[in-house]
Amino acid sequence: MKEVGYKVESGLAWLTLNNPPLNALSHALRKAIVEALDRAVADRKVQAIVIIGGERAFSSGADIKEFSGGAFYAEPFLPAVCDAIEAAPKPVIAAISGACMGGGLEVALGCHHRVALADAKIAFPEVKLGLIPGAGGTQRFPRLVGLEPAINLIVSGATVPASLFKGSPLLDVVVDNQGANALRDAAREFATSKKGAPVRRVRDLAVKHPQAEAFLQFAKTSVKAVARGMAAPLRAIDAVAASMERSFDAGLATEGRIFTELMASPESKALRHAFFAERAASKVQGLSDATPQRKIQQVAVVGAGTMGGGIAMTFANAGIPVTVLEAKQEALDRGMAGIRKVYDGSVAKKKLKSEDAQKRVALISPSLDYAAAAKADLIIEAVFEDIEVKKAVFRELDKFAKKGAILASNTSTLDVDRIASFTKRPGDVLGLHFFSPANVMRLLEVVRAKKTRPDVLATAMSLAKRIGKTAVVSGVCDGFIGNRMLDPYAQQALLMLEEGASPRQVDKAIEAFGFAMGPFRMSDLAGNDISWHIRKRHYAEHPKMRPMRIADRVCELGRFGQKTGSGWYRYEAGRRDAIPDPQVDQIIDEERKALKIEPRRIPDAEIVDRLLFSLVNEGARILEEGIAQRASDIDVVYLTGYGFPVHRGGPMFHASQVGLGRVLRRMREFAANPRAEPGSWKPAKLLVKLAAEGRGFDDAPAAGKRKGKSRG
Ligand code: NAD
Repeated sequence: MKEVGYKVESGLAWLTLNNPPLNALSHALRKAIVEALDRAVADRKVQAIVIIGGERAFSSGADIKEFSGGAFYAEPFLPAVCDAIEAAPKPVIAAISGACMGGGLEVALGCHHRVALADAKIAFPEVKLGLIPGAGGTQRFPRLVGLEPAINLIVSGATVPASLFKGSPLLDVVVDNQGANALRDAAREFATSKKGAPVRRVRDLAVKHPQAEAFLQFAKTSVKAVARGMAAPLRAIDAVAASMERSFDAGLATEGRIFTELMASPESKALRHAFFAERAASKVQGLSDATPQRKIQQVAVVGAGTMGGGIAMTFANAGIPVTVLEAKQEALDRGMAGIRKVYDGSVAKKKLKSEDAQKRVALISPSLDYAAAAKADLIIEAVFEDIEVKKAVFRELDKFAKKGAILASNTSTLDVDRIASFTKRPGDVLGLHFFSPANVMRLLEVVRAKKTRPDVLATAMSLAKRIGKTAVVSGVCDGFIGNRMLDPYAQQALLMLEEGASPRQVDKAIEAFGFAMGPFRMSDLAGNDISWHIRKRHYAEHPKMRPMRIADRVCELGRFGQKTGSGWYRYEAGRRDAIPDPQVDQIIDEERKALKIEPRRIPDAEIVDRLLFSLVNEGARILEEGIAQRASDIDVVYLTGYGFPVHRGGPMFHASQVGLGRVLRRMREFAANPRAEPGSWKPAKLLVKLAAEGRGFDDAPAAGKRKGKSRG
């Protein structure tokens, strides 16, 4: 079938959009819509025209793959398609089911009438890509729904059901009946009633609001407060405001100008990169749609601590039964109590219904007996970060787990190849590195060990989707992708304290760049004891390494962060505000004196670049070693797991935008600092090579080989 099916029945022309899966408005589809429309207009037998999509989508909007080439702007450009529909002399009716979003919604607004299933999904998601609707949406939508509802939907990017617009001029008919032909029948009945009727064009309506100016001002002030430096939501208000202040055509021109301006903005480029990066991460080298997968119906988690509890809830939330195993009754009781507390909290905050919370708790079965894991299709180990403890657990699992069960470790730093070797079935072993709190954080690093079988990896990737996680594949190395990069980043943060910065200055500088949390606030949240534990192991493994005395002394005082009421900052009972603490200043001061350092005022720009480029350099090594499959995977890790600002696109994208040559020059400057740790700014070979060729990370082919050192 062609992009648009064409059929005439009893005076009605049916134009069926056919660009699976979601009728994205590719150039071919746009062209076919206009051709079919012209045909229907010319056909004397046709008295009204119905444009209908498929069950999943009327249309999900622009084909954003076309953004990077010329096809997006190729004629007929989407605004011209909407104009052509609106200009048709015969009534055109949109019959809407499934997604009706962005450009898809704009096509529907170009039509003279709309008939929709009650559960059709209505949205203008453009702001999520740093854009605004650009095919008349900001002008036609307020003409139908009013100024306030239009701004609310366009600025938030939220998806709402069509039923919300019952009674609004947006929808002539809302179809509650969900039968297979319900939409078609309702559209036929409505279109028949409009045969030969004069057309009603949205452009001819006026937008009315009793206090438009005051409302627009209020909207701007409120959006500014939450936009976190993003331009699109504010510019969306400007565009919608034009629907009131100017003629339709002048309003369209304003919308077009703003759209073009945003399309070229670094923010929108970064958001589009992030969108594609996440899609790309699910594609794994060596796997295909034909790779077989194992069935996962029953899961077991070993260890009911911080991570085990969060992981168990993640599965229960997805409706998958999970057994939680512990070594001691007391720890098991504590773990289950922690799980109940989280669910009670969600019920209290009205995020979850009480009966749903009960259902989820009922899916989690506590046990002290490994035999309880015998039926599990997947067993995830989340016990102490100690290779001997892990060894004992995996030996035991090897005895009890059924044949074909996948055995996973949630280790943050230990060698997954070595863990696999503790079993007689290393092909069934992989790392599933969840982030804390595991029931909340979206990122899942899927660690592919040397012997991990393809079907095990493929199963893990699709399971991640089922439980709502964004999975990124990592090879085996010390810290995998995310934490390995965090090592040099944390080192820079600590060195800057010695040189003259305060924890607050470092945090504020990188937070102003857009990070959700600076390194010191983040460490206080995660627990300073975790990095202390890793540092002590580093000291033992590398006796020549210079100890980070400031950080060690903070930990020696038991200042482990929020959980102990103090860390890099102090915290008042029940509050999370980080308050600078003179005791920490004193430690910093004493250590500067011991190192004979005359403190200097470090510019914020230096703080930001030192933190970012230490991430980028390690990321480049990870890429050249083949630990990450592609640069954009590293970006996904930082965007979804480490609070990197999404409008900056991730560390590797950001570096490519800055220009790798400039990044390198800056790194040389930092290396010349007499306080720099020897070798710490040695540039990765890949970085040097790409900079010399004037390229960015996105063009870098992934390394074929996989290697890397591990500790543990
Ligand atoms: P935790 O100390 O909170 O919990 C570990 C639990 O394992 C304890 O309840 C303990 O009783 C139990 N346990 C110990 N030995 C056991 C055994 N033989 N059988 C059954 N249960 C046993 O630790 P955690 O923070 O949940 O970390 C668990 C794992 O997750 C570690 O490998 C850690 O590196 C990793 N991890 C932690 C984080 C984090 O932020 N905490 C993040 C990612 C990964």
